[in-house]
Amino acid sequence: MRWATGGVNYSYLLSKLAPPSMTSANWIIDPAEPLEVKDQLSNHELHSITTIVNTHHHYDHAGGNVAFATLLTQRENPSFIIGSTLSATLSTSKVTQPNDGQIFDLGHNITVEAIRTPCHTQDSVCYLVKDSEKDDYAIFTGDTLFTAGCGRFFEGTGEEMHSSLNHILDRTNGHWDKVKVYPGHEYTKSNVKFIRHMVWKKIGDNKAFDHLEQLVLNTEVLTGMFTLQDELNFNPFMRLNDPFVRKAVGDDNNTLSEKDVMTKLRKLKDNF
Ligand SMILES: [Zn+2]
Repeated sequence: MRWATGGVNYSYLLSKLAPPSMTSANWIIDPAEPLEVKDQLSNHELHSITTIVNTHHHYDHAGGNVAFATLLTQRENPSFIIGSTLSATLSTSKVTQPNDGQIFDLGHNITVEAIRTPCHTQDSVCYLVKDSEKDDYAIFTGDTLFTAGCGRFFEGTGEEMHSSLNHILDRTNGHWDKVKVYPGHEYTKSNVKFIRHMVWKKIGDNKAFDHLEQLVLNTEVLTGMFTLQDELNFNPFMRLNDPFVRKAVGDDNNTLSEKDVMTKLRKLKDNF
């Protein structure tokens, strides 16, 4: 979505089945500008949504909750907003703020596990979706993890981002090459530009990154194209011990802690 407010955001409909057999236990994630999101949905899809889900409370993710709720005709569950009690909501009694590790069963072999990842905001949640029938995985990462980047540390520290990203890896251990990443924004182009200027400056420094850079040239929508393993290969915020990353933050002698590398790397990006 290109919001009228200027953001290049992603809003997601989470559903296993395609219309017309689509059933009514579907999630809409971060529908911040409801009318624009509605325009992208068929009637079947719109009517299949029972739950509005937010990755964090920022307005460009949660600001559409109240208006979107009025568009929904099926509300089986009074707690039909999952996200943060800080989100724009009808009333806080209708909000489920998920605990770390909380599981939601969507039926059709699909479960979603909430992974709390405080840093960008303290209420940031990533949602790990598992299809046990197909051995398929997806993670909706909001503004915590982007393709080849991570969110700004508005309410947290480098230490928190480092531990949040590792928390995601712990929860998905053994499946990194299967977990597709769906971030909250399309920032890949600018992330790639930053990385080429500051980290892997030459072709051949990181082959996975070279490949990503080529893809970015002629692909606009990159969400869902990469796995956590890809991020481990080309995302400098997940490669804090990579010698090129250390060099970028001025730590040629490898003396900084990982959390300090994280903090310095994010500062470089903030000022880029
Ligand atoms: Zn945000």
